[in-house]
Amino acid sequence: MIIIKTKKEIEILREGGRRLATVLYKVKEKITPGISTKELDIYAEKLIKDLSDEPAFLNYRPEGAAKPYPASLCVSVNDEVVHGIPSSNRVLKEGDIVSLDLGLRHLGLFTDMAITVPVGAVSEGSERLMQTTEKALQIGIDAAQGGNTVGDIGYAIESFVRSRKENNYGIVEVLSGHGVGRAIHEDPYIPNFGKRGSGNKLVPGMIIAIEPMLNLGTKNVVQDEDGYTIRTADGKKSAHFEHTVLITAGEPEILTQI
Ligand code: MG
Repeated sequence: MIIIKTKKEIEILREGGRRLATVLYKVKEKITPGISTKELDIYAEKLIKDLSDEPAFLNYRPEGAAKPYPASLCVSVNDEVVHGIPSSNRVLKEGDIVSLDLGLRHLGLFTDMAITVPVGAVSEGSERLMQTTEKALQIGIDAAQGGNTVGDIGYAIESFVRSRKENNYGIVEVLSGHGVGRAIHEDPYIPNFGKRGSGNKLVPGMIIAIEPMLNLGTKNVVQDEDGYTIRTADGKKSAHFEHTVLITAGEPEILTQI
């Protein structure tokens, strides 16, 4: 069921989104060769708790998962697409790219955001992958106008990525964006591919997370034995950007921004 948020809920989510973006950009500033992914998780959790908010992913148990997610932050390095579990043994090194995905619960309501960040100097190919994924997110958001459909978002993202033929990026299809607000995952799914005019209509008051994931190689992904980490099937790098967005009668409003 798609939930249309009330004015009061939208106000809370706007503040929650602002707080989430503030936290995530602070965590981004910590990214440097030599830091472990666990240190980033501890820092993110501290920042959220200092605001008297709650990390949304900690102990979250997705449908079908054998155990709850054990951290506040998802940290996915290089060929890891999403849901990487932070570890003190996983130390970032120059040339890595690292995706940070974080959810925050403020006054009972959820927002969701992700960015991919370079560790020191990275290759031109990694840089282009990150830039293209961030641009794909913006193009998806631009298509998320009230009266359009979920398929219009996927179509816009897919057409943009395909228009950069020379890159030949894989668009991850088995993972998608989603409604968000009263829960961290709500209806509808927001795929990063699709047909114009297909799927649910976007109605003012809907709040959705749009989150393209692009791979340097194949679109195919595999899951690690830890039950969470999703990585590219061919071991090539992947990037991920996500915003929580409010559908309005006109231009959509990005909630996860400062
Ligand atoms: Mg999400």
